[in-house]
Amino acid sequence: MSKVLIIGAGGVGRVVAHKCAQASDVFTGITLASRTESKCKAIAAEIKFPVKTARVDADNVPELVALLKKEQPKLVINVALPYQDLSIMDACLEVGVDYLDTANYEPLDTAKFEYSWQWAYQDRFREKGLMALLGSGFDPGVTNVFTALAARKYLDEIHELDIIDANAGSHGQPFATNFNPEINIREVTAPCRHWEGGGWVETPALSTRRSFDFPEGIGPMNIYRMYHEEMESLVKHIPTIRKAQFWMTFSDNYLKHLEVLQNVGMTRIDEVEFQGMKIVPLQFLKAVLPDPGSLGPLTKGKTCIGIIGRGIKDGKRKQVYIYNICDHEECYREVNSQAISYTTGVPAAVGGIMMLTGRWHKPGVWNMEQFDPEPFLERLSVMGLPHVVVEGEWPEL
Ligand code: NDP
Repeated sequence: MSKVLIIGAGGVGRVVAHKCAQASDVFTGITLASRTESKCKAIAAEIKFPVKTARVDADNVPELVALLKKEQPKLVINVALPYQDLSIMDACLEVGVDYLDTANYEPLDTAKFEYSWQWAYQDRFREKGLMALLGSGFDPGVTNVFTALAARKYLDEIHELDIIDANAGSHGQPFATNFNPEINIREVTAPCRHWEGGGWVETPALSTRRSFDFPEGIGPMNIYRMYHEEMESLVKHIPTIRKAQFWMTFSDNYLKHLEVLQNVGMTRIDEVEFQGMKIVPLQFLKAVLPDPGSLGPLTKGKTCIGIIGRGIKDGKRKQVYIYNICDHEECYREVNSQAISYTTGVPAAVGGIMMLTGRWHKPGVWNMEQFDPEPFLERLSVMGLPHVVVEGEWPEL
């Protein structure tokens, strides 16, 4: 019996539930739990395989423990928000259940992206014979696995890494984010850091722009350098990496709206007094922006997320580009979600399959690049996200 408990019934939770249901060779029972149970029920109603639902406040460890004892899953897939990572890990330790997530823990009051809090659980998970797999989405997640593949198969030593994430799709809204607006805006407005010369180099948010010519008809787009959490684990676990940068496309329209929202204080994450109440402007902004789940039927176009690894093979300089292209409308036809949720939810389900089948199972707390990339990529491809490997030359970014 490989029962899974999925926590979080947003855009990503919907895709994870659909994909786990499609993999009934591995997942013999599925429970979907979230703060608002009606959202779980709406998702369960879309799926032929029986999906149980429950209400849980994942900030509350005793509530989580009670749910885990009742449902007795082998694995928890956490696709709630990064704020809940530690409480869910605590509950998993208490009951003795494996854990997987797609985003590293963040405290509510500071947009601080680092693995330190979750890596600190290493001994506790190992001693209990339990496993936690961190960051099993696309980026982090598949980008870590692509980097491991480049470093193991295509290069003898990887020296420079560029992770490049393009959303070449459009939803036709004046301003909306493709996943949880609060998490998205915290990430995008945080100071940029990249790895170079053995340390982190900080530059102002979105201050470095390049153009990159994306494959398969997408063409040139502006990309902006920003901090992204997978760089922290990759430079630790693949120490030959001398320079690591993360790049993302943003439309001029998105950047214009974001600048205004920042200038007027709407992206603040500290509390302000409003009509006798305390509110956090960014949380209020989330409430008035379109729900990313509602963008599914509106979004057209493609995503292209990949990595360029540059280094040495057989004594010669070599470069490899590994990427996936995903089509928003095809995703919507399959699972009622656009490609951003799809590219996150499918790798979460595949990470779960790797753990439950024992292909990737070791007690402790692990990042994706610490395992053999090939079985993961094989299953990922079968489940909807194939990848392309191109050896060639790309301009330095
Ligand atoms: P959504 O905001 O759409 O969904 C989040 C869900 O979590 C909602 O159903 C919400 O419930 C639920 N939730 C929030 N707080 C709690 C709580 N205290 N207890 C129980 N449930 C709670 O987010 P997304 O689906 O877009 O994103 C989910 C996760 O995926 C995020 O952590 C995000 O950072 C990560 N992500 C990772 C990516 C990657 O490639 N690695 C890319 C994109 C996202 P309610 O409906 O009541 O608000």
